[in-house]
Amino acid sequence: MVRKKKILIVEDNELNRSLLSDILSDEYQVLEAENGRKALDILEQNKDSVALVLLDVMMPVMDGYTFLQRIRDDAELSLIPVIVTTQSDSEADEVNALIHGATDFVPKPYRPQVILHRVASLIKLRETAAMVNQFQYDRLTGLYSKEFFYQKVRERLLEEPEQDYCIVCSNIENFKLLNDIFGAQEGDRLLKEIAAIAQKMVGSTGFCGRFTADRFLALQKREQELRDRQNFGYLGEQRVSPVMKNVVMRWGIYEITDRSISVEQMCDRALLAADSIRGQYNQYFAVYDDSLRRRLLKEKAITDAIETALNEKQFVIYFQPQYGVNDACMTGAEALVRWNHPEWGFMSPGEFVPLLERNGFISRLDQYIWEQTCIILQDWRDKGYPLLPVSVNVSRADVYQLNLVEILLKLIQKYDIAPEYLHLEITESTYAKNPEQIICTVDQLRKLGFIVEMDDFGSEYSSLNMLSQMELDILKLDMKFIRNEMEKPEERSILKDIISMVHRIGMSVVAEGVETREQMERVKAFGCDYVQGYYLARPMTAPEFGELLKKQIWEGAFDDHIAVV
Ligand code: C2E
Ligand code: CA
Ligand code: CA
Repeated sequence: MVRKKKILIVEDNELNRSLLSDILSDEYQVLEAENGRKALDILEQNKDSVALVLLDVMMPVMDGYTFLQRIRDDAELSLIPVIVTTQSDSEADEVNALIHGATDFVPKPYRPQVILHRVASLIKLRETAAMVNQFQYDRLTGLYSKEFFYQKVRERLLEEPEQDYCIVCSNIENFKLLNDIFGAQEGDRLLKEIAAIAQKMVGSTGFCGRFTADRFLALQKREQELRDRQNFGYLGEQRVSPVMKNVVMRWGIYEITDRSISVEQMCDRALLAADSIRGQYNQYFAVYDDSLRRRLLKEKAITDAIETALNEKQFVIYFQPQYGVNDACMTGAEALVRWNHPEWGFMSPGEFVPLLERNGFISRLDQYIWEQTCIILQDWRDKGYPLLPVSVNVSRADVYQLNLVEILLKLIQKYDIAPEYLHLEITESTYAKNPEQIICTVDQLRKLGFIVEMDDFGSEYSSLNMLSQMELDILKLDMKFIRNEMEKPEERSILKDIISMVHRIGMSVVAEGVETREQMERVKAFGCDYVQGYYLARPMTAPEFGELLKKQIWEGAFDDHIAVV
């Protein structure tokens, strides 16, 4: 059975009410109210279902015009068409009704066919309008829909060929996660707030649209956008929602310089710019330009090339020796990846590791490097070289995404390597986030016999308190720390204190990036145990490092290095 549409009759005269009800009730479900106030109550409860209102003007309690005013002030109610019943042929009444926002009028006495006809056609008109509306506007925020935004931009650019415009796109960082933690209702509230901010930002000279769940687009005049840039930092970390504190937003800007490209492409460029700064501290907006485009293309090319590079063994491991500070004996090495690409040539990890860390591919590469390192260690052992431990790098993503303990255990079993020959360098920043998980993983690894090192100490966070919460074996002082110490003598005592504290809790200290004799003497004076740096040796290929190991058999300690220390 088809459900009848609802019509509300607002009329104080009972006879008129029942006359109208008789005319309409065959085709519609009729609701009745004898004054404006009652009618408002009924509408409030049937907001979504009342298809039309038939309204008398002269009524006690609340007259028809006041009623009309009220519903026109309400965003949702104002969409319901209202037919006013007027005294016959009173032009003044008719005009007055239309001025007050009525959609149409019918004169008294009632003519059933005219009324039925007008009611039906108004309902149909409204439904069509609602459909168009749905296509043009985003339901949640009231902003333009994506398609309608594109269309509006096209029109505006044609209308104003001389005006400089830009597309600004905003993106909420980790929106899916926020939605998941705080629930969809809070998520919706956040989106509405952000839509309001975007709307306020563009003012009356531009307009906004919603691109996807948490991405908004705006067309702004160039000068307006330049003024807004000062605000982007402020808008970056908003306390827009009382529940979600410090929501981080990134803004991407495309200055429309080339009108020959499609509006879709213009928007994509703004979106790309916003994405390019994802996760970056203190950077809230990025402008799309050719260098960004080149960088993004290069990053994409790198990501696309990883699979082939792994299959074709384009990654090579270099070994940088480490030495004891006091006797200059070689004590081990760090395994460092290099990418020998057939077209791009030799690439240092700085060119691809940070990108792979961002997109999660690093774990694939790291596992490959760990395995290759085990293969090389096995080869040296089979050749009878005296083995030294090799440190491999473990990224933050590895700790959180992989079953690290199982993977590493399987590896050393497969290649029959004792765990103490594989040192694991986990960068300092990993310890700062989610301490429980890292403490637990490190604990298990150490119980199995792996040696765990804290890499890059002093480069970013200060994890001194982490050191008291968990047991580690070795601390690697970042080279920046050594440099700073050289430049700011007042910090020397800090470094000395840190080293003696680290010793007290049973850890050894490796100084990284030692480049000069002066630095070498200083780290020695501070009580560092090991050094790694260009002053003693640069990273070298596996055969070159193998030669050094071989030399150990014949020459024992390295006299040449004792001389320089
Ligand atoms: P890191 O782990 O701190 O490695 C030490 C870096 O310092 C290496 O750069 C090394 O060549 C460089 N270095 C050593 N001594 C000196 C010196 O005296 N002066 C200067 N200026 N630099 C020195 P490299 O090989 O370019 O690696 C850079 C970073 O890339 C590494 O920093 C590490 O974070 C990352 N990385 C390298 N290999 C891997 C890998 O297999 N996996 C992961 N996840 N990251 C890797
Ligand atoms: Ca390292
Ligand atoms: Ca390091």
